[in-house]
Amino acid sequence: MSAGFDAKAASVKGVEMRRARAVFKAALAKGEFRLLEVYDQAESEDASQVLRGLRVEWFLRSIPGFGVTKTRALLERLGISATATLGGLRVRQRTALRAEVATLYRRYFPHQRGVLVVLAGPSGVGKGTIVSWITGHFPEFVVSVSATTRPQRPGEKDGEHYYFVSATRFEELVRADELLEWALVHGSHYYGTPRAPVDELLDQGKNVILEIDVQGAKQVKRHMKNSLSVFIAPPSFSDLEDRLVRRGTEDERERRRRLMTAKRELGRQSEFDYVVINASVEESGQSIVDLALASKDPQSTKE
Ligand code: 5GP
Repeated sequence: MSAGFDAKAASVKGVEMRRARAVFKAALAKGEFRLLEVYDQAESEDASQVLRGLRVEWFLRSIPGFGVTKTRALLERLGISATATLGGLRVRQRTALRAEVATLYRRYFPHQRGVLVVLAGPSGVGKGTIVSWITGHFPEFVVSVSATTRPQRPGEKDGEHYYFVSATRFEELVRADELLEWALVHGSHYYGTPRAPVDELLDQGKNVILEIDVQGAKQVKRHMKNSLSVFIAPPSFSDLEDRLVRRGTEDERERRRRLMTAKRELGRQSEFDYVVINASVEESGQSIVDLALASKDPQSTKE
């Protein structure tokens, strides 16, 4: 025994640590922490010893429904030893395991993730204003930034309003399956939703709003059954015409094209989970927030 080593104190500390770990594991299993967030925190040198010293095997087994056999098979596949701790993983193991933990988190704790809210509706109906109202009043709602091949308009910022990309880059994103959905909108330009940022925001528990066209909305619903799709309709068609003229961002020809698309889109409202008629921004915004929060209720999110 080396000088100065207090065996009694060390064993008391050991007992405390084990007790703290047991409490932590129980809380994790009850879903009191976000699994993925905990995993990411363990990477930091500053994380508590309770967390960094937790065995990977125990971490995985705290997922209700993920038993011993599945845990061991996963560790074996990733070449991680049975005694490895969260804080002691090699970089490559940590990265590989993170992808697996993300998948497990999404499968076993869907109720902890945010809601994906898909908003569609004809051009000029006021989707953008409603979205700004929601994100301005409810910080737990964020809007996804799409990629598009359409030219940047004055006042628009790359990375904020859209990611303005070339047709070649857009095709690359499609080929690499990096878009959650994409479509040719108004027959002129491509628009698509980058997948990774949406998944990460949902993992953090944020409710993510996609403001996209009807074709894209259908694609999302097909892949993500738990998403909420809302069609925003104008009080009347003439109201929509007035709004487009008032907005004045399109010339006469483009306006006519958008109104034609709008007619087609209005005929597809029944394909959505809900229709909100935009008579007032506040009421429409609040309705969408209420629908999103209601769909988060564990009773209604079961697939
Ligand atoms: P604008 O060119 O006026 O910004 O947008 C035109 C239309 O493209 C809007 O009606 C909007 O809903 C749609 N849009 C914007 N981003 C996306 C996207 O990522 N995917 C799809 N499918 N449509 C989008």
